Amino acid sequence: MQLHLPTIFVVSQLISLACGLVFLLGPRTTKSPFYVWFAGAFLSAPCATVFYLLAERGEEWLWTYPAGNAIATLAIALIWVGARSVNGRSLPLRTAFLVPAVIMVAVWMTATPNGQWTGALPFFLSFSAFSALAGLEFARGGIDEPSPVHARVLTVACAINSGWFLVRAVGLVVLGTDHPVFLSVLGAENAATMLTVMIVVASLGLSAIAKERALRTAHRLATEDPLTGLLNRREFTRRAEELSASAGGRQNDYAVLLFDLDHFKSINDTYGHMVGDEVLEAFARVARRALREGDLLCRYGGEEFAALLPGATADGALRVADRIHRGLATSVEPVFSRVRPTTSIGVASVRSAEIPLGALLRRADVALYRAKEEGRNRTVVFDDTSLQATGTFRTGAGAHQASA
Ligand code: GH3
Ligand code: MG
Ligand code: MG
Repeated sequence: MQLHLPTIFVVSQLISLACGLVFLLGPRTTKSPFYVWFAGAFLSAPCATVFYLLAERGEEWLWTYPAGNAIATLAIALIWVGARSVNGRSLPLRTAFLVPAVIMVAVWMTATPNGQWTGALPFFLSFSAFSALAGLEFARGGIDEPSPVHARVLTVACAINSGWFLVRAVGLVVLGTDHPVFLSVLGAENAATMLTVMIVVASLGLSAIAKERALRTAHRLATEDPLTGLLNRREFTRRAEELSASAGGRQNDYAVLLFDLDHFKSINDTYGHMVGDEVLEAFARVARRALREGDLLCRYGGEEFAALLPGATADGALRVADRIHRGLATSVEPVFSRVRPTTSIGVASVRSAEIPLGALLRRADVALYRAKEEGRNRTVVFDDTSLQATGTFRTGAGAHQASA
């Protein structure tokens, strides 16, 4: 079947144009830097094709093909830059444009008035290299997430595209442009078909990645505390209730700890809010390190935090609380060289399904209030019969057992 080259070009470029506009005008709330890079790539591809179509209409090969090739190189380079950006790896604007610009110059410099394939070799090689780089970037996966299926499909597409252009480069050198095999297998018709397939795959894959990223961002905003990266209160409550429900009435221990940093207002007043924020972040790290994998930790609000320890008895929770007191006293967090914060902790524990989470939190809050009253920097455990202070507290390096 004889492929009609201009038709293929026009179809593929209409897809590219539509996709470029979607990226360019995409929803503002989910806009990430990579939207701009992908928009640039999808919008420059049709520009390249305008030159190829001019060549098809009989314009001078010398300028039309190299011009198209140069813009096509820029398009694939932008896909690579966009893929880096998806992974949170930025590239200075200068580098992003300098590399394709150098290649464009190389394409132009090697262009000779020898017909259709003028300047094709550096174009094939650079296109193959940028495809490979983009593929590697999609294979890396994001910094904060496992590589999604879409990224894997794009990796494969980039690898195929890179291989295809490498084979074309080898064919160009070994067979020469007049060879019938080169013309029928590696020539413009198959290249245009391949380009169409790649544009369709890329537009579907990149749109899927963008959508997935937007959903992840929205989910993170809805569930995380932006300062500390811990769960927010709503997500903590949701997961805690889920845990409690999944216990299904079985007699599983679990404990709740409520933290309130001591004299935090005076930290803010003395050192400023920025230092106060750093203390909150450092506290979150110290507390996280003291917990096990399945434990939940959240920023409950302001300078208050909460933890839920599935399977922990009051004694277990006390040991964790003690580790946190000790962590605050000894950790080498940079901000702790200026401010050494302490925390009061209220603990309540229960066998699941005995009392609801809300009631358990209220008990921990009562215990926390008592810890404040008794002088701060200590843990108080709420038990069923009485409020009992059994935690350790520290002054300087010493540790003392407190009792009710
Ligand atoms: P106590 O030992 O009784 O808990 O005293 P406190 O000063 O810690 O308690 P108080 O409730 O009076 O003050 C809490 C302070 O925490 C007041 C508020 O400005 C500050 N705060 C709340 N959220 C943030 C935040 O995100 N960043 C900073 N830097 N400060 C915050
Ligand atoms: Mg408070
Ligand atoms: Mg406080």
